Amino acid sequence: MQASTEVSLSEQLLEIETVFKQQQAHQYIVANTDASDRIKKLKRLKAVVIRYRDEIKTALYNDFRKHPSEADLTEVYAITTEIKHTCRHLRKWMRDEEVGTPLALKGSSSYIKYEPKGVVLIIAPWNFPVSLTLTPLISAIAAGNTAILKPSEHTPHASSILKKIIEEVFKIEEVALFRGGVATSTRLLALPFNHIFFTGSPGVGKIVMTAAAKHLASVTLELGGKSPTVVDETAIIDTAARRIAWGKYLNNGQVCIAPDHIFVHESKQELFIAKVKDYVKKFYSEDPSRESSYARMVNSKHAQRVKSYVVDAVEQGASVELGGSYKDEEDYIAPTILTNIPAQAEIMSNEIFGPVLPIVSFKDIDEVIDKINSREKPLALYIFSRSKKNIHHLIANTRAGGTCINHNLVHYFNNNLPFGGSNNSGIGKGHGEYGFKAFSNARSILKQHVPNAIELLMPPYTNFKQKLIDFTIKYF
Ligand code: NAD
Repeated sequence: MQASTEVSLSEQLLEIETVFKQQQAHQYIVANTDASDRIKKLKRLKAVVIRYRDEIKTALYNDFRKHPSEADLTEVYAITTEIKHTCRHLRKWMRDEEVGTPLALKGSSSYIKYEPKGVVLIIAPWNFPVSLTLTPLISAIAAGNTAILKPSEHTPHASSILKKIIEEVFKIEEVALFRGGVATSTRLLALPFNHIFFTGSPGVGKIVMTAAAKHLASVTLELGGKSPTVVDETAIIDTAARRIAWGKYLNNGQVCIAPDHIFVHESKQELFIAKVKDYVKKFYSEDPSRESSYARMVNSKHAQRVKSYVVDAVEQGASVELGGSYKDEEDYIAPTILTNIPAQAEIMSNEIFGPVLPIVSFKDIDEVIDKINSREKPLALYIFSRSKKNIHHLIANTRAGGTCINHNLVHYFNNNLPFGGSNNSGIGKGHGEYGFKAFSNARSILKQHVPNAIELLMPPYTNFKQKLIDFTIKYF
C-alpha cells in the first residue's frame, strides 16, 4: 500500500512538472486572447458547471451530507454569479487605463496595462470545495493566465467532479487540476509559479508564503480566524437571532466568515438566546440529526476537534444552553450554544469552524472593542445595531477584512466588493474586479512624443542646470 502510493506520487510529480512546462510554453497564447475569447471560455465553464449541477450536489451530499439546496446556493450560485459579473465587466477591466502627466513630463502620455501574471497556482480548502476552487479560476482566466488547481483531499467526491469539469472545458496547457493532499501541494509549491492564490488556514498560509518567497511569487492568501459578532442593546433581536442562526449553522458552521462568537448586550442576552433556539428549531426541527437540511462535520478529525472545544469549555465551567450532543459515527454535532465561557477556554482562542456558538455578554461597547483588538484582525466582523453612533464607533476602532451591518455572510455574494482578510486573516483580495487585478500585473507604460523638460537636465550638471533643477523642485 505504502509502496504503490509512493509510485503514484512520483508519477504525479513527473506529470506536474510536464504540465507546468507546457503551461509556461503556452502562456503567451493565453495571454494574448481578447475579452471575447475569455468570455467564451467562462461561458463554457458555466454551461458545464450547470450540466454537472446534480452531480455536484450528490458529491457534496456524499462528502458531508450537505443539503442539495444549500449546495445550489453556496456552490453553484457562487460560481454562476461570479461568471456573469465577470463577463459583464471584463471588457472594461481589460481596457488600458489612461493616467495624467505631471508638468515635468509634458510631451509624454502614460497608461496602465493589465497584463496576466503568467502561470498561476490555486490551492483550495474543503468547506466549499467547488466554488472556492472555481471562483479564483474565473478571475485567473479573466486576467489571461494559465492555471493549475489543487482542490482539498478531504472532499474526494467534489474533487472528482471538479476534475471532470476542468478536463471537459480546458486543454491541459491552459488549466489543469491535480488531486492530492499535502505531498501534492508541496510539490506544486516548489515550482516557480508567477502567482499563488491560496484559500485555507492561517497556519498553512504561512507555509505557502514561505514557499512563494523562494521564487518571489506574488500571493493572495484567503485565510480564516475568529469572526466576532456584536449584538448591541438597540438591535432588533428577532432579526439578529434569525440571521445569526442561519449564518452560524449553514454548512455546519464550516464557513470562513461564519459568526464565530457573539458579544450580546447583557440586557438582551436572555431574549437573544431564546430566539436563536427558536430559529434553530424552525430551521432544523427538534432533532437536527434527522433533518436533511443540517450538514455534517467533514470528517471525524474535525468533529473531534470541535467536540473537544465544547468538552474543554464545559469542564472549565461553561453552560450548555442548547445542544451539546454528538453522534461520533456520523460526525454529527448538534447545534450548540454556550454561555459563561472562561476566557482561557480553547474555544475562545481557536477558530471554531463548526456548529457551536459561544455567547459573551457585555455592558459597554468599549469592552467589546478591547476584546476584539486583543486578537488577530478577523476576516469578518458583524454588527447588529440600530445605533449609528455604535456602528460608527465599532467600525472606526476595529479592523477586519469585511463587515456586514445587521446581517452576516452576505457581503461574500456582492461581487462589487473586494473579498479577503487583513494580515492573519489574509493578504490581497478576490472577487470581481479585485480578483481580476489579483491575477494581473499593472504594467506602467509611458510613451514619449516630443522632448520634455528632463532632456534639459541631463549631465554634465552646470550651475544653469542646477538652477533649472531648483526651479523644477520648487514649481513642478
Ligand atoms: P487547510 O489550510 O488545512 O488546507 C487548505 C489547502 O492547503 C488544502 O488544499 C490542503 O491540501 C493544503 N495543505 C494543507 N496542509 C498543507 C501543507 N502543510 N503544505 C501545503 N499545502 C497544504 O485549510 P482547510 O482545513 O481545508 O480549510 C479550513 C480553513 O480555511 C479555515 O481556517 C477557514 O477559515 C479557511 N478558509 C478561508 C476562506 C477565505 O475565503 N478566506 C474560505 C474557506 C476557508
